[in-house]
Amino acid sequence: MILNTAEHALSIFALGGVNEVGKNMYAVQYADDIVVIDCGSKFPDESLLGIDLIIPDITYLRENKDKIRALIVTHGHEDHIGGIPYFLKQLNVPIYATRLTLGLIEIKLKEHGLLRETQLTSIDSNSNIELGTIRLTFFKTNHSIPDCLGVAFHTPEGTVVHTGDFKFDLTPVNDQYPDIHKMADLGKNGVLALLSESTNAERPGFTPSEKLVGTHIEEAFNKADGKVFISTFASNVHRVQQVVDAAIKTNRKLALLGRSMVNVVSVAMELGYLNIPDEMLIDASEVHDLPAERVAILCTGSQGEPLAALSRLSNSKYRQVEIFPGDTVIFSSTPIPGNERNVARIIDNLFLLGAKVIYGSGTATGMHVSGHAYQEELKLMLTLMKPKYFIPIHGEYRMLYQHRLLAESVGVEKENIYVVQNGDVVDISHSNARQTRKIPAGNIFVDGLGIGDVGDIVLRDRKLLSEEGMLIIVITLSKSENKIVSGPDTISRGFVYARQSEELLNDVNEIVTKTINKLQKENVTQWKIMKQNVKESVGKFLYAQTKRRPMIVPIIIEV
Ligand SMILES: [Zn+2]
Ligand SMILES: [Zn+2]
Repeated sequence: MILNTAEHALSIFALGGVNEVGKNMYAVQYADDIVVIDCGSKFPDESLLGIDLIIPDITYLRENKDKIRALIVTHGHEDHIGGIPYFLKQLNVPIYATRLTLGLIEIKLKEHGLLRETQLTSIDSNSNIELGTIRLTFFKTNHSIPDCLGVAFHTPEGTVVHTGDFKFDLTPVNDQYPDIHKMADLGKNGVLALLSESTNAERPGFTPSEKLVGTHIEEAFNKADGKVFISTFASNVHRVQQVVDAAIKTNRKLALLGRSMVNVVSVAMELGYLNIPDEMLIDASEVHDLPAERVAILCTGSQGEPLAALSRLSNSKYRQVEIFPGDTVIFSSTPIPGNERNVARIIDNLFLLGAKVIYGSGTATGMHVSGHAYQEELKLMLTLMKPKYFIPIHGEYRMLYQHRLLAESVGVEKENIYVVQNGDVVDISHSNARQTRKIPAGNIFVDGLGIGDVGDIVLRDRKLLSEEGMLIIVITLSKSENKIVSGPDTISRGFVYARQSEELLNDVNEIVTKTINKLQKENVTQWKIMKQNVKESVGKFLYAQTKRRPMIVPIIIEV
Protein backbone atom coordinates (compact mmCIF):
# COMPACT_ATOMS: atom_id res chain seq x y z
CA MET A 1 0.00 0.00 0.00
CA ILE A 2 1.41 3.35 -1.01
CA LEU A 3 0.24 6.32 0.94
CA ASN A 4 1.16 9.85 0.26
CA THR A 5 2.19 10.50 3.81
CA ALA A 6 3.77 13.85 3.05
CA GLU A 7 0.48 15.32 1.93
CA HIS A 8 -1.85 13.98 4.54
CA ALA A 9 0.30 13.79 7.61
CA LEU A 10 -0.51 15.81 10.64
CA SER A 11 2.24 18.31 11.45
CA ILE A 12 2.91 20.21 14.64
CA PHE A 13 5.51 22.91 15.02
CA ALA A 14 6.59 25.90 17.08
CA LEU A 15 7.61 29.19 15.45
CA GLY A 16 8.42 30.67 18.85
CA GLY A 17 8.18 29.80 22.51
CA VAL A 18 10.50 26.82 22.89
CA ASN A 19 14.00 27.31 24.28
CA GLU A 20 12.91 30.78 25.31
CA VAL A 21 10.32 32.49 27.42
CA GLY A 22 8.26 34.66 25.13
CA LYS A 23 7.00 35.10 21.55
CA ASN A 24 4.84 32.00 21.64
CA MET A 25 3.56 30.78 18.31
CA TYR A 26 2.60 27.23 17.44
CA ALA A 27 0.75 25.64 14.57
CA VAL A 28 -1.16 22.48 13.82
CA GLN A 29 -1.42 21.51 10.17
CA TYR A 30 -3.47 18.73 8.64
CA ALA A 31 -3.21 18.41 4.85
CA ASP A 32 -4.02 21.87 3.49
CA ASP A 33 -5.34 23.33 6.70
CA ILE A 34 -3.14 25.27 9.09
CA VAL A 35 -4.36 26.61 12.41
CA VAL A 36 -2.00 28.97 14.21
CA ILE A 37 -2.02 29.21 18.01
CA ASP A 38 -0.91 32.48 19.60
CA CYS A 39 1.36 35.17 18.21
CA GLY A 40 3.47 36.60 21.00
CA SER A 41 6.32 38.99 21.33
CA LYS A 42 9.39 39.02 23.53
CA PHE A 43 11.31 41.91 25.05
CA PRO A 44 14.95 42.19 23.99
CA ASP A 45 17.82 41.81 26.45
CA GLU A 46 20.49 44.50 26.80
CA SER A 47 22.63 43.03 24.02
CA LEU A 48 20.00 43.97 21.42
CA LEU A 49 20.70 47.69 21.41
CA GLY A 50 17.76 49.83 20.41
CA ILE A 51 15.48 46.92 19.56
CA ASP A 52 11.93 47.50 20.82
CA LEU A 53 10.45 44.06 20.43
CA ILE A 54 11.14 40.56 19.09
CA ILE A 55 8.51 38.70 17.09
CA PRO A 56 8.52 35.26 15.42
CA ASP A 57 9.72 34.66 11.88
CA ILE A 58 6.61 33.70 9.89
CA THR A 59 8.23 32.92 6.54
CA TYR A 60 6.62 29.46 6.44
CA LEU A 61 3.16 30.88 7.12
CA ARG A 62 3.64 33.59 4.48
CA GLU A 63 4.59 30.93 1.96
CA ASN A 64 1.50 28.90 2.87
CA LYS A 65 -0.88 31.75 3.46
CA ASP A 66 -3.74 30.16 1.49
CA LYS A 67 -3.77 27.28 3.95
CA ILE A 68 -4.06 29.31 7.13
CA ARG A 69 -7.60 29.01 8.48
CA ALA A 70 -7.31 30.97 11.70
CA LEU A 71 -5.23 32.38 14.50
CA ILE A 72 -6.47 31.03 17.83
CA VAL A 73 -5.33 33.05 20.83
CA THR A 74 -5.29 31.21 24.17
CA HIS A 75 -5.11 34.31 26.41
CA GLY A 76 -4.19 38.00 26.54
CA HIS A 77 -0.59 38.03 27.76
CA GLU A 78 2.05 39.83 25.70
CA ASP A 79 3.99 36.64 25.06
CA HIS A 80 0.84 35.38 23.29
CA ILE A 81 -0.63 38.52 21.66
CA GLY A 82 2.27 40.99 21.35
CA GLY A 83 3.17 39.97 17.79
CA ILE A 84 -0.39 40.09 16.42
CA PRO A 85 -0.28 43.58 14.81
CA TYR A 86 2.94 42.71 12.96
CA PHE A 87 1.53 39.33 11.93
CA LEU A 88 -1.67 40.92 10.60
CA LYS A 89 0.27 43.45 8.56
CA GLN A 90 1.67 40.49 6.63
CA LEU A 91 -1.21 38.04 6.81
CA ASN A 92 -4.81 39.03 7.31
CA VAL A 93 -6.11 35.99 9.17
CA PRO A 94 -9.34 35.69 11.18
CA ILE A 95 -8.73 35.70 14.92
CA TYR A 96 -10.62 33.61 17.50
CA ALA A 97 -10.31 34.33 21.21
CA THR A 98 -12.34 34.84 24.36
CA ARG A 99 -13.91 38.24 25.05
CA LEU A 100 -11.26 39.60 27.40
CA THR A 101 -8.46 38.39 25.15
CA LEU A 102 -10.15 40.08 22.19
CA GLY A 103 -10.56 43.26 24.25
CA LEU A 104 -6.82 43.33 24.88
CA ILE A 105 -6.03 42.52 21.25
CA GLU A 106 -8.33 45.37 20.17
CA ILE A 107 -6.27 47.88 22.17
CA LYS A 108 -3.25 46.85 20.09
CA LEU A 109 -5.10 46.85 16.79
CA LYS A 110 -6.38 50.35 17.48
CA GLU A 111 -2.84 51.58 18.15
CA HIS A 112 -1.75 50.11 14.81
CA GLY A 113 -4.84 51.23 12.88
CA LEU A 114 -5.77 47.62 12.09
CA LEU A 115 -9.05 47.26 13.91
CA ARG A 116 -11.36 47.82 10.94
CA GLU A 117 -9.93 45.26 8.55
CA THR A 118 -9.46 42.49 11.12
CA GLN A 119 -12.01 39.72 11.56
CA LEU A 120 -12.38 39.02 15.27
CA THR A 121 -14.58 36.21 16.52
CA SER A 122 -15.42 35.77 20.17
CA ILE A 123 -15.36 32.21 21.51
CA ASP A 124 -15.75 30.56 24.90
CA SER A 125 -14.98 27.18 26.39
CA ASN A 126 -18.15 25.72 24.81
CA SER A 127 -17.35 26.80 21.25
CA ASN A 128 -17.01 24.20 18.54
CA ILE A 129 -15.39 25.42 15.34
CA GLU A 130 -14.84 23.65 12.03
CA LEU A 131 -11.82 24.91 10.13
CA GLY A 132 -11.44 22.76 7.03
CA THR A 133 -10.50 19.27 8.20
CA ILE A 134 -9.76 20.44 11.75
CA ARG A 135 -12.47 20.77 14.39
CA LEU A 136 -11.67 22.78 17.50
CA THR A 137 -13.03 22.44 21.02
CA PHE A 138 -11.87 24.24 24.14
CA PHE A 139 -11.52 23.93 27.89
CA LYS A 140 -11.17 26.54 30.62
CA THR A 141 -7.90 26.82 32.52
CA ASN A 142 -6.65 29.01 35.38
CA HIS A 143 -3.81 31.43 34.91
CA SER A 144 -2.78 34.94 35.97
CA ILE A 145 -5.27 36.53 33.59
CA PRO A 146 -8.95 35.58 33.24
CA ASP A 147 -10.56 33.82 30.31
CA CYS A 148 -7.79 31.39 29.33
CA LEU A 149 -8.41 28.47 27.07
CA GLY A 150 -6.80 25.17 26.30
CA VAL A 151 -7.46 24.02 22.74
CA ALA A 152 -8.19 20.57 21.31
CA PHE A 153 -7.61 20.07 17.58
CA HIS A 154 -9.65 17.13 16.34
CA THR A 155 -8.08 15.98 13.06
CA PRO A 156 -8.64 12.85 10.96
CA GLU A 157 -5.29 11.62 12.30
CA GLY A 158 -6.24 12.14 15.95
CA THR A 159 -6.58 14.81 18.60
CA VAL A 160 -3.87 17.32 19.44
CA VAL A 161 -4.20 19.30 22.66
CA HIS A 162 -2.50 22.62 23.40
CA THR A 163 -2.86 23.59 27.07
CA GLY A 164 -2.16 27.30 26.76
CA ASP A 165 -0.68 28.76 29.95
CA PHE A 166 -2.30 27.16 32.97
CA LYS A 167 -2.32 26.19 36.59
CA PHE A 168 -4.92 24.33 38.57
CA ASP A 169 -6.64 26.69 40.98
CA LEU A 170 -9.43 24.88 42.77
CA THR A 171 -10.58 28.02 44.61
CA PRO A 172 -10.30 30.59 41.83
CA VAL A 173 -11.34 34.23 42.12
CA ASN A 174 -14.67 35.06 40.39
CA ASP A 175 -15.62 31.36 40.19
CA GLN A 176 -13.48 30.74 37.10
CA TYR A 177 -13.25 27.01 37.75
CA PRO A 178 -11.06 24.92 35.46
CA ASP A 179 -12.80 22.40 33.15
CA ILE A 180 -11.10 19.37 34.69
CA HIS A 181 -13.93 17.08 33.61
CA LYS A 182 -13.50 18.18 29.98
CA MET A 183 -9.77 17.56 30.14
CA ALA A 184 -10.42 14.08 31.49
CA ASP A 185 -12.93 13.48 28.69
CA LEU A 186 -10.38 14.39 26.07
CA GLY A 187 -7.97 11.92 27.65
CA LYS A 188 -10.63 9.25 27.79
CA ASN A 189 -11.38 9.69 24.07
CA GLY A 190 -7.69 9.57 23.24
CA VAL A 191 -5.14 12.34 22.88
CA LEU A 192 -2.61 11.69 20.14
CA ALA A 193 -0.30 14.56 21.06
CA LEU A 194 -0.15 16.98 23.97
CA LEU A 195 1.61 20.35 23.92
CA SER A 196 1.87 21.55 27.50
CA GLU A 197 3.50 24.63 28.98
CA SER A 198 6.71 24.22 31.00
CA THR A 199 7.34 27.56 32.76
CA ASN A 200 7.42 26.08 36.28
CA ALA A 201 8.57 22.56 35.44
CA GLU A 202 11.53 23.08 37.79
CA ARG A 203 9.37 23.83 40.83
CA PRO A 204 8.11 20.98 43.00
CA GLY A 205 4.63 20.87 44.46
CA PHE A 206 1.46 22.81 43.63
CA THR A 207 1.01 26.55 43.10
CA PRO A 208 -0.98 28.16 45.89
CA SER A 209 -4.41 29.51 45.02
CA GLU A 210 -4.84 33.13 43.93
CA LYS A 211 -7.35 33.52 46.77
CA LEU A 212 -4.51 33.28 49.28
CA VAL A 213 -3.02 36.51 47.94
CA GLY A 214 -6.30 38.30 48.62
CA THR A 215 -6.14 37.55 52.34
CA HIS A 216 -2.56 38.82 52.55
CA ILE A 217 -3.40 42.01 50.68
CA GLU A 218 -6.34 42.67 52.99
CA GLU A 219 -4.12 42.11 56.04
CA ALA A 220 -1.56 44.60 54.77
CA PHE A 221 -4.26 47.17 53.95
CA ASN A 222 -5.58 46.78 57.49
CA LYS A 223 -2.17 47.33 59.07
CA ALA A 224 -1.21 50.34 56.94
CA ASP A 225 -1.75 53.76 58.48
CA GLY A 226 -0.75 55.96 55.54
CA LYS A 227 -1.52 55.58 51.85
CA VAL A 228 -1.11 52.10 50.37
CA PHE A 229 0.53 51.68 47.00
CA ILE A 230 0.30 48.27 45.39
CA SER A 231 1.90 47.30 42.12
CA THR A 232 1.06 44.34 39.91
CA PHE A 233 0.59 43.40 36.26
CA ALA A 234 -2.45 45.24 34.95
CA SER A 235 -3.59 42.13 33.11
CA ASN A 236 -3.84 40.17 36.36
CA VAL A 237 -7.51 41.11 36.59
CA HIS A 238 -8.23 38.73 39.46
CA ARG A 239 -5.43 40.30 41.48
CA VAL A 240 -6.83 43.74 40.66
CA GLN A 241 -10.25 42.56 41.85
CA GLN A 242 -8.73 41.42 45.13
CA VAL A 243 -7.05 44.81 45.58
CA VAL A 244 -10.40 46.49 44.93
CA ASP A 245 -12.09 44.21 47.48
CA ALA A 246 -9.40 44.90 50.09
CA ALA A 247 -9.81 48.64 49.50
CA ILE A 248 -13.58 48.42 49.94
CA LYS A 249 -13.21 46.39 53.16
CA THR A 250 -10.71 48.85 54.63
CA ASN A 251 -12.68 51.91 53.55
CA ARG A 252 -10.15 53.26 51.05
CA LYS A 253 -10.77 54.88 47.68
CA LEU A 254 -8.71 53.62 44.78
CA ALA A 255 -6.63 55.51 42.21
CA LEU A 256 -5.16 53.82 39.15
CA LEU A 257 -1.75 54.97 37.92
CA GLY A 258 -0.11 53.97 34.65
CA ARG A 259 -1.44 53.80 31.12
CA SER A 260 -1.72 50.01 30.89
CA MET A 261 -3.44 49.85 34.30
CA VAL A 262 -6.07 52.38 33.20
CA ASN A 263 -6.49 50.70 29.77
CA VAL A 264 -6.78 47.13 31.01
CA VAL A 265 -9.02 47.99 33.95
CA SER A 266 -11.45 49.88 31.74
CA VAL A 267 -11.62 47.04 29.20
CA ALA A 268 -12.09 44.47 31.99
CA MET A 269 -14.80 46.58 33.64
CA GLU A 270 -16.61 47.15 30.38
CA LEU A 271 -16.65 43.43 29.64
CA GLY A 272 -17.76 42.52 33.13
CA TYR A 273 -14.56 40.82 34.32
CA LEU A 274 -13.99 43.39 37.04
CA ASN A 275 -16.41 44.65 39.57
CA ILE A 276 -15.56 48.14 40.83
CA PRO A 277 -18.29 50.32 42.34
CA ASP A 278 -18.29 53.71 40.57
CA GLU A 279 -17.74 55.75 43.73
CA MET A 280 -14.62 53.67 44.55
CA LEU A 281 -12.40 55.11 41.85
CA ILE A 282 -10.73 58.46 42.24
CA ASP A 283 -8.53 60.42 39.92
CA ALA A 284 -4.80 60.76 40.61
CA SER A 285 -5.38 64.49 41.18
CA GLU A 286 -7.75 63.69 44.08
CA VAL A 287 -5.31 61.47 46.01
CA HIS A 288 -4.01 64.27 48.21
CA ASP A 289 -7.50 65.68 48.91
CA LEU A 290 -8.36 62.65 51.04
CA PRO A 291 -6.85 61.56 54.38
CA ALA A 292 -3.89 59.25 53.68
CA GLU A 293 -5.52 56.27 55.41
CA ARG A 294 -8.53 56.53 53.07
CA VAL A 295 -6.49 56.00 49.90
CA ALA A 296 -5.10 53.03 47.99
CA ILE A 297 -3.19 53.35 44.75
CA LEU A 298 -2.87 50.58 42.22
CA CYS A 299 0.02 51.15 39.85
CA THR A 300 2.09 49.63 37.08
CA GLY A 301 5.83 49.06 37.35
CA SER A 302 6.13 45.96 39.55
CA GLN A 303 8.93 44.74 37.25
CA GLY A 304 10.96 47.93 37.70
CA GLU A 305 10.15 49.29 34.24
CA PRO A 306 11.88 52.69 34.28
CA LEU A 307 9.00 54.63 32.70
CA ALA A 308 6.17 52.99 34.63
CA ALA A 309 4.27 54.68 37.45
CA LEU A 310 6.06 53.03 40.39
CA SER A 311 9.52 53.98 39.14
CA ARG A 312 8.43 57.61 38.71
CA LEU A 313 6.80 57.61 42.14
CA SER A 314 10.02 56.29 43.69
CA ASN A 315 11.93 59.18 42.10
CA SER A 316 9.30 61.71 43.22
CA LYS A 317 8.69 62.40 39.54
CA TYR A 318 5.02 61.49 39.36
CA ARG A 319 3.21 64.74 38.79
CA GLN A 320 0.10 64.41 40.94
CA VAL A 321 0.97 61.84 43.58
CA GLU A 322 3.72 61.69 46.19
CA ILE A 323 4.94 59.00 48.53
CA PHE A 324 5.30 60.29 52.12
CA PRO A 325 7.09 58.73 55.10
CA GLY A 326 4.84 56.09 56.64
CA ASP A 327 3.10 55.17 53.37
CA THR A 328 3.14 51.47 52.47
CA VAL A 329 4.29 50.11 49.11
CA ILE A 330 3.48 46.50 48.19
CA PHE A 331 5.06 44.56 45.35
CA SER A 332 2.38 42.08 44.37
CA SER A 333 4.75 40.26 42.05
CA THR A 334 8.02 38.38 41.73
CA PRO A 335 10.70 39.99 39.58
CA ILE A 336 11.10 38.20 36.27
CA PRO A 337 14.76 37.12 35.78
CA GLY A 338 16.62 40.09 34.31
CA ASN A 339 14.48 42.69 36.08
CA GLU A 340 15.92 42.22 39.58
CA ARG A 341 18.36 45.13 39.39
CA ASN A 342 15.74 47.66 38.31
CA VAL A 343 13.35 46.46 40.98
CA ALA A 344 16.07 46.67 43.63
CA ARG A 345 16.86 50.29 42.70
CA ILE A 346 13.21 51.25 43.10
CA ILE A 347 13.02 49.54 46.49
CA ASP A 348 16.09 51.51 47.64
CA ASN A 349 14.46 54.76 46.55
CA LEU A 350 11.20 53.88 48.25
CA PHE A 351 12.98 53.25 51.55
CA LEU A 352 14.82 56.57 51.11
CA LEU A 353 11.42 58.26 50.86
CA GLY A 354 10.53 56.72 54.23
CA ALA A 355 8.01 54.20 52.89
CA LYS A 356 7.34 50.78 54.39
CA VAL A 357 8.07 48.40 51.54
CA ILE A 358 6.74 44.86 51.26
CA TYR A 359 8.89 43.18 48.64
CA GLY A 360 10.80 40.07 47.74
CA SER A 361 9.72 36.84 46.18
CA GLY A 362 5.92 36.83 46.10
CA THR A 363 5.88 33.35 47.58
CA ALA A 364 7.76 34.60 50.64
CA THR A 365 5.63 37.72 51.24
CA GLY A 366 2.37 36.03 50.31
CA MET A 367 1.65 38.93 47.97
CA HIS A 368 1.95 36.92 44.78
CA VAL A 369 1.37 33.44 43.42
CA SER A 370 2.48 32.14 40.07
CA GLY A 371 0.03 31.66 37.23
CA HIS A 372 1.95 28.66 35.89
CA ALA A 373 1.55 25.04 36.97
CA TYR A 374 4.17 23.52 39.27
CA GLN A 375 5.41 19.96 38.84
CA GLU A 376 2.45 18.18 40.45
CA GLU A 377 -0.01 20.14 38.32
CA LEU A 378 1.95 19.40 35.16
CA LYS A 379 1.79 15.73 36.09
CA LEU A 380 -1.95 16.07 36.66
CA MET A 381 -2.43 17.55 33.19
CA LEU A 382 -0.37 14.73 31.65
CA THR A 383 -2.36 12.17 33.60
CA LEU A 384 -5.70 13.64 32.55
CA MET A 385 -4.69 13.75 28.88
CA LYS A 386 -2.74 10.46 28.74
CA PRO A 387 -1.19 11.51 25.41
CA LYS A 388 0.62 9.11 23.12
CA TYR A 389 3.07 11.84 22.09
CA PHE A 390 4.22 14.70 24.25
CA ILE A 391 5.82 18.00 23.21
CA PRO A 392 6.78 20.29 26.12
CA ILE A 393 6.43 23.94 25.09
CA HIS A 394 6.63 27.45 26.57
CA GLY A 395 9.98 27.48 28.33
CA GLU A 396 13.76 27.56 28.26
CA TYR A 397 15.51 24.31 27.42
CA ARG A 398 16.04 23.31 31.06
CA MET A 399 12.30 23.70 31.71
CA LEU A 400 11.41 21.60 28.67
CA TYR A 401 13.95 19.04 29.86
CA GLN A 402 12.43 18.84 33.35
CA HIS A 403 8.97 18.61 31.84
CA ARG A 404 10.14 15.65 29.79
CA LEU A 405 11.23 13.88 32.97
CA LEU A 406 7.85 14.61 34.58
CA ALA A 407 6.09 13.11 31.57
CA GLU A 408 8.24 9.99 31.77
CA SER A 409 7.47 9.71 35.47
CA VAL A 410 3.74 9.53 34.77
CA GLY A 411 4.07 6.93 32.07
CA VAL A 412 4.62 8.66 28.72
CA GLU A 413 7.00 6.54 26.62
CA LYS A 414 10.45 8.10 26.55
CA GLU A 415 10.77 7.81 22.75
CA ASN A 416 7.38 9.47 22.31
CA ILE A 417 8.53 12.75 23.83
CA TYR A 418 9.78 15.43 21.46
CA VAL A 419 11.80 18.28 22.93
CA VAL A 420 11.87 20.53 19.87
CA GLN A 421 13.53 23.72 18.69
CA ASN A 422 11.58 26.53 17.08
CA GLY A 423 11.11 25.42 13.46
CA ASP A 424 11.31 21.65 14.11
CA VAL A 425 8.32 19.87 12.61
CA VAL A 426 6.80 16.81 14.25
CA ASP A 427 4.97 14.83 11.55
CA ILE A 428 2.47 12.20 12.61
CA SER A 429 1.14 9.71 10.12
CA HIS A 430 -0.76 6.49 10.90
CA SER A 431 -0.07 7.19 14.56
CA ASN A 432 3.67 7.22 13.96
CA ALA A 433 5.54 10.39 14.78
CA ARG A 434 8.91 11.53 13.53
CA GLN A 435 10.85 14.75 13.64
CA THR A 436 13.07 15.11 10.60
CA ARG A 437 11.97 18.33 8.91
CA LYS A 438 12.74 21.93 9.76
CA ILE A 439 11.08 25.15 8.61
CA PRO A 440 12.46 28.69 8.98
CA ALA A 441 12.14 30.09 12.49
CA GLY A 442 13.96 32.78 14.37
CA ASN A 443 13.85 36.27 15.77
CA ILE A 444 12.53 39.23 13.81
CA PHE A 445 13.46 42.55 15.42
CA VAL A 446 11.07 45.47 15.60
CA ASP A 447 12.79 48.85 15.84
CA GLY A 448 10.50 51.87 15.62
CA LEU A 449 8.52 51.45 12.43
CA GLY A 450 10.95 48.93 10.96
CA ILE A 451 10.14 45.23 11.10
CA GLY A 452 13.01 42.91 10.30
CA ASP A 453 15.22 45.58 8.73
CA VAL A 454 17.63 45.55 11.65
CA GLY A 455 19.70 42.39 11.55
CA ASP A 456 22.99 41.07 12.91
CA ILE A 457 25.16 43.54 10.97
CA VAL A 458 23.34 46.63 12.20
CA LEU A 459 23.39 45.25 15.74
CA ARG A 460 27.12 44.55 15.50
CA ASP A 461 27.67 48.17 14.45
CA ARG A 462 25.51 49.43 17.30
CA LYS A 463 27.46 47.34 19.78
CA LEU A 464 30.78 48.61 18.43
CA LEU A 465 29.54 52.20 18.49
CA SER A 466 28.24 51.84 22.03
CA GLU A 467 31.49 50.35 23.30
CA GLU A 468 34.19 52.14 21.27
CA GLY A 469 32.58 55.18 19.66
CA MET A 470 33.35 56.40 16.18
CA LEU A 471 35.74 58.57 14.25
CA ILE A 472 34.62 60.23 11.03
CA ILE A 473 37.35 61.35 8.62
CA VAL A 474 36.37 63.75 5.86
CA ILE A 475 38.76 64.15 2.92
CA THR A 476 38.11 66.46 -0.04
CA LEU A 477 39.90 65.47 -3.24
CA SER A 478 40.32 67.44 -6.41
CA LYS A 479 39.36 65.39 -9.42
CA SER A 480 41.46 67.32 -11.90
CA GLU A 481 44.62 67.56 -9.84
CA ASN A 482 44.15 64.25 -8.05
CA LYS A 483 45.18 65.58 -4.64
CA ILE A 484 43.77 66.54 -1.28
CA VAL A 485 42.36 70.07 -1.46
CA SER A 486 40.95 70.28 2.03
CA GLY A 487 41.04 68.22 5.19
CA PRO A 488 41.38 65.64 6.41
CA ASP A 489 38.98 66.68 9.14
CA THR A 490 38.27 64.29 11.96
CA ILE A 491 35.12 64.20 14.02
CA SER A 492 35.03 62.06 17.15
CA ARG A 493 31.79 60.80 18.69
CA GLY A 494 32.02 58.64 21.79
CA PHE A 495 35.69 57.87 21.11
CA VAL A 496 37.73 60.72 22.57
CA TYR A 497 36.78 64.25 23.56
CA ALA A 498 38.17 66.25 20.64
CA ARG A 499 39.25 69.30 22.62
CA GLN A 500 41.41 67.24 24.95
CA SER A 501 42.82 65.07 22.20
CA GLU A 502 43.94 67.60 19.64
CA GLU A 503 47.35 66.04 19.36
CA LEU A 504 46.02 62.57 18.77
CA LEU A 505 43.58 63.78 16.12
CA ASN A 506 46.30 65.84 14.41
CA ASP A 507 48.39 62.69 14.21
CA VAL A 508 45.42 60.90 12.67
CA ASN A 509 45.10 63.64 10.05
CA GLU A 510 48.76 63.28 9.22
CA ILE A 511 48.46 59.54 8.81
CA VAL A 512 45.45 59.99 6.53
CA THR A 513 47.28 62.51 4.37
CA LYS A 514 50.31 60.24 4.08
CA THR A 515 48.15 57.25 3.20
CA ILE A 516 46.25 59.11 0.48
CA ASN A 517 49.40 60.68 -0.99
CA LYS A 518 51.07 57.31 -1.17
CA LEU A 519 48.10 55.76 -2.96
CA GLN A 520 47.98 58.60 -5.45
CA LYS A 521 51.62 58.14 -6.27
CA GLU A 522 50.74 54.53 -7.02
CA ASN A 523 47.85 55.80 -9.15
CA VAL A 524 45.24 54.14 -6.98
CA THR A 525 42.06 56.17 -7.39
CA GLN A 526 39.26 53.79 -6.44
CA TRP A 527 37.51 55.18 -3.38
CA LYS A 528 36.87 51.78 -1.94
CA ILE A 529 40.57 50.97 -1.77
CA MET A 530 41.42 54.43 -0.47
CA LYS A 531 38.87 54.12 2.31
CA GLN A 532 40.04 50.64 3.22
CA ASN A 533 43.66 51.84 3.47
CA VAL A 534 42.68 54.83 5.59
CA LYS A 535 40.70 52.59 7.92
CA GLU A 536 43.59 50.18 8.32
CA SER A 537 46.35 52.69 8.90
CA VAL A 538 44.30 54.85 11.27
CA GLY A 539 42.92 51.78 13.08
CA LYS A 540 46.41 50.42 13.69
CA PHE A 541 47.68 53.77 14.95
CA LEU A 542 44.74 54.34 17.29
CA TYR A 543 44.96 50.87 18.77
CA ALA A 544 48.67 51.33 19.45
CA GLN A 545 48.03 54.73 21.08
CA THR A 546 44.80 54.07 22.96
CA LYS A 547 44.07 50.32 22.97
CA ARG A 548 40.63 51.25 21.57
CA ARG A 549 39.04 50.26 18.31
CA PRO A 550 36.50 52.92 17.36
CA MET A 551 34.46 52.56 14.21
CA ILE A 552 36.33 54.54 11.54
CA VAL A 553 34.20 56.09 8.82
CA PRO A 554 36.20 57.74 6.00
CA ILE A 555 34.17 60.07 3.77
CA ILE A 556 35.68 61.20 0.46
CA ILE A 557 34.24 64.24 -1.28
CA GLU A 558 35.35 64.97 -4.83
CA VAL A 559 35.39 68.53 -6.17
ZN1 LIG B 1 0.33 33.76 30.18
ZN1 LIG C 1 2.87 32.70 28.34
